[in-house]
Amino acid sequence: GNKNINAKLVLLGDVGAGKSSLVLRFVKGQFVEFQESTIGAAFFSQTLAVNDATVKFEIWDTAGQERYHSLAPMYYRGAAAAIIVYDISNQASFERAKKWVQELQAQGSFYMFACINVYMAVLDSLLHVAFLRPVADITVKLLLFSLNCNPNMVMALAGNKADLLDARKVTAEASSSFYAIEAQVYAQEYGLFFIETSAKTATNVNDIFYEIAKRLPLV
Ligand code: GDP
Ligand code: MG
Repeated sequence: GNKNINAKLVLLGDVGAGKSSLVLRFVKGQFVEFQESTIGAAFFSQTLAVNDATVKFEIWDTAGQERYHSLAPMYYRGAAAAIIVYDISNQASFERAKKWVQELQAQGSFYMFACINVYMAVLDSLLHVAFLRPVADITVKLLLFSLNCNPNMVMALAGNKADLLDARKVTAEASSSFYAIEAQVYAQEYGLFFIETSAKTATNVNDIFYEIAKRLPLV
């Protein structure tokens, strides 16, 4: 049958990497050359049909400025998916992307540990009450769900502005594929899904959301 899934998704990455542009392209099919800087964060939603499920993405587009860093956990906590965006013509933005991955993965393992502890403790106490035994497991799962416990975050790394061929050609031919190779190797090592995108030409923009949707549990 048809399943409807709501998935909170957060975009993280350096200022100017193209987070807002990717969202604008995905949600409205548009691109603007002079995209305004995001203040705080912006919310969008878009649905996508994957297999026999409909995924409704609830998208948080964050600002990326260092001065908003302390707000970031509000957006990524409990998120089912994250897209970490860098600009293929900007090495510093790639370094910043790695920092985000580190932060998410550190949070993830801490969070998973906390979730499992809650799960075990509550399950254990429920199992001591005979009439609660049959519903113990589902009760705890509902509790964890209401606490926004979602340790299995799907993470994607997006090398955006893939249309900037000139910016890559400025560097030597050998190093033009350097970013992609470096990013691919990095993504593999850290268990991320990696793809190069262009919000400008729309290359791989729907694809990244589609790939994320496919990787969500229950799809
Ligand atoms: P954010 O700070 O990460 O949200 O980045 P923005 O979406 O605001 O984009 C910053 C600038 O990069 C804007 O001028 C965009 O027009 C431009 N930009 C975004 N994505 C692309 C892309 O794929 N290709 C090119 N050439 N420019 C892009
Ligand atoms: Mg923005």
